[in-house]
Amino acid sequence: MKYNYLIVGAGLFGSVFAYEAKKKGKTCLVIDKRDHIAGNIYCEEIEGINVHKYGAHIFHTSNKKVWDYINQFAEFNNYINSPVAVYKDELYNLPFNMNTFSKMWGIRTPQEAKEIIQKQIAELNITEPKNLEEQALSLAGTDVYEKLIKGYTEKQWGRPCTELPSFIIKRLPFRFIYDNNYFNDRYQGIPMGGYTKIVEKMLDGIDVKTNTDYFEFIKENPDIAEKTVFTGMIDEYFGYKLGALEYRSVRFETEVLDTDNYQGNAVVNYTDREVPYTRIIEHKHFEFGKQEKTVISREYSSEWHQGMEPYYPVNDDKNNTLFDEYRKLADQEKDVIFGGRLGNYKYYDMDKVIEAALEVCEKELV
Ligand code: FAD
Ligand code: UDP
Repeated sequence: MKYNYLIVGAGLFGSVFAYEAKKKGKTCLVIDKRDHIAGNIYCEEIEGINVHKYGAHIFHTSNKKVWDYINQFAEFNNYINSPVAVYKDELYNLPFNMNTFSKMWGIRTPQEAKEIIQKQIAELNITEPKNLEEQALSLAGTDVYEKLIKGYTEKQWGRPCTELPSFIIKRLPFRFIYDNNYFNDRYQGIPMGGYTKIVEKMLDGIDVKTNTDYFEFIKENPDIAEKTVFTGMIDEYFGYKLGALEYRSVRFETEVLDTDNYQGNAVVNYTDREVPYTRIIEHKHFEFGKQEKTVISREYSSEWHQGMEPYYPVNDDKNNTLFDEYRKLADQEKDVIFGGRLGNYKYYDMDKVIEAALEVCEKELV
C-alpha cells in the first residue's frame, strides 16, 4: 500500500499531523523506533500512578487555540506547578518571587527586595546581558544566581553559564508578588488519566508501527509513501554529514517507595552542584493522587552520545549555526517535512509543538 504520508515519530508533532491529515482524507503510516506511542509525553502506570517516563510534563499555554485543541482529547485538572528548590540545607519557593526573596533575605515588601537586588546588580556593571550568567545576574542579583541558578544550570547543561544563551533563563518568571506559579501562562494543567491517552485518541484509526526505525524501514520500503514527516534528529537524517549537533540527555532513576508522600510536592529541584541529580519528581502529586505508595524519579543530566535519548537541543550559537546548515539541506528535500523538537532543533514546549504542527498542517493539507 502506498500512503500519502509516512510519519516518523509517534510523539506530539507526528500525532497532531496524523490526526489532521486523516481528517482531510489522507492516509498515513506512523512509525516509531520506541516500543510505544506518545514520544516524550508517554506515561506508564505504576502502582496506579501515571509516571511521566521521560520527565515531568506540565501543559501550559497562553494560546487559546492550542488550549481548545488539546482539550478535545482530554480533560485537564487544575494542577499549578510550584516547584521547591533545595540549596544545601535551605529551602526556597520557585520561580523567583517574593516568597523566594523573603526567605533569602528575611524581608517582607517588594520595595525591600528590589533595593537588595538593585544594590547587587549595580555592583556588577552589566549593561547588555550577553549570556545566561549575565542575564540571570542582571535580573535577580548575586544571591539568587549563586544559590538557585548557577549550580542547577551547570548540572543541567554541562556548560558554564557564561557559555549558555540567555533565553534559557527567560523561560522562568521573575516577579515581585507572592506567587509560586512556575508559569505566566493563562492555561495550565495535567490531562486526567495521563498523556498517552491523548495520543491514543489522535492516532485512532491510523496505521501505527512501533519498534520500527526509519533508517532500516525506508531501505526495505522506499516507496511506502508520497511524502515523509520526519520528527527525529535532523542531523541523523542527513547521516551527520555536516557534523553532529549537540543534545543533552537525561537518565531517570525511578523508584517505588512504601510511603504515601515522599517530598510533599511534585517537583523539588536540587540547586547545589554537590547533589548529582537536578530534580526529584513525585509523580502522584501531578494528579493529587491518594495511592498508598509513591513513585519518584531522580533526573541526572548528561551530554548526549549515540545510543542515548536526545532530550534537549543545545541552542547555543555554535549549534544554531550548524542547524542552519542542516536546515538548508532540509529545504532541498521537497518531499520531506521536518518537525518537532528534534526535527527543528528547538527547545519547544508541548504547546509550541502543537502550534508548529498546526501551522504545517495548514500549509500542507489543502
Ligand atoms: P518527541 O516526543 O521526542 O517524539 C519524537 C519521536 O520520534 C520519538 O518517539 C522518537 O522515538 C521517534 N524517533 C526519532 N527518531 C526516529 C527514527 N529514526 N525512527 C523512528 N522513530 C524515531 N513541555 C511542556 O510543555 N511542559 C513540560 O513540563 C515539559 N517538560 C519536559 C521535560 C523533559 C525532561 C523534556 C525532555 C521535555 C519536556 N517538555 C515539556 C517538552 C516536550 O517533551 C516536547 O515539546 C514534546 O514532547 C516534543 O514532541 P515531539 O513530537 O517534537 O518529539
Ligand atoms: N533553572 C535554574 N534553577 C532552577 C530551575 C531552573 O537555574 O531551580 C534554569 C536552568 O537553566 C534551566 C532553565 O532555568 O535549564 C529552564 O528551567 P525549566 O524548569 O523550564 O527547565 P525544563 O523543565 O525545560 O528542564
